[in-house]
Amino acid sequence: MPDSHAYVLGKSTSEDLSLVDAGLLGKGSYKIQSIQKAGIELSSIKRIIMTHTHLDHIGCLAEILKQLPWAELWMHHSEADLLEQGDERGVYGMDMFRVLCQLQFGLKAGAFKFQVNRKLQGGETLDLGNTVWEVIHIPGHSMGSIGLYHRPMKILIPGDVVYSDHAIGRFDLYGADASELRKSLVSLAELEVDILLPGHNQIVEGLPKGYILKTARQWEPYLK
Ligand SMILES: [Zn+2]
Ligand SMILES: [Zn+2]
Repeated sequence: MPDSHAYVLGKSTSEDLSLVDAGLLGKGSYKIQSIQKAGIELSSIKRIIMTHTHLDHIGCLAEILKQLPWAELWMHHSEADLLEQGDERGVYGMDMFRVLCQLQFGLKAGAFKFQVNRKLQGGETLDLGNTVWEVIHIPGHSMGSIGLYHRPMKILIPGDVVYSDHAIGRFDLYGADASELRKSLVSLAELEVDILLPGHNQIVEGLPKGYILKTARQWEPYLK
């Protein structure tokens, strides 16, 4: 299973930075080291915002929170409610996968129970370290997937909803919904995006105009 990207948002001078997504199990110290190598003081990371809570994004959240015990946890309310109840269906996505992962990593049931400090709805405007991000609820890949959009610089962080090379997130896991994913892609297509920072694979600068709409159209026959 591939690790997910993590992004740090905010002006470095603000000392009010946000980490977007954690990553796969066991990657916590690698992520922390990468942040430090980038010259970022850990003490300036005030919160972790999850695009969604699949295992490849939340797997090392506990490892990271151990290093940043002051950091708040923010995510969409629908996945927050699951995590707070210790309901891990949204983390593993399917039962067979849960069994495999629990065996492989020696995980116990309830390993992904977290308290969430801020439950997002979509539609919020967040001031993150003197940079403004719009929260967009884009369900379909998971029920509580959110995108973060920085309008001034046309930067989109879509989680696993859309990637480079016209790929999109899978829509067969728990909480996924193909027709919701189609609607989410269509709503993202209305944004002007220059820089795409997806959950996996290549980061794209200079995203071609109409890229997301073209992607939505290509996938439309499968998203019913
Ligand atoms: Zn995912
Ligand atoms: Zn992912």
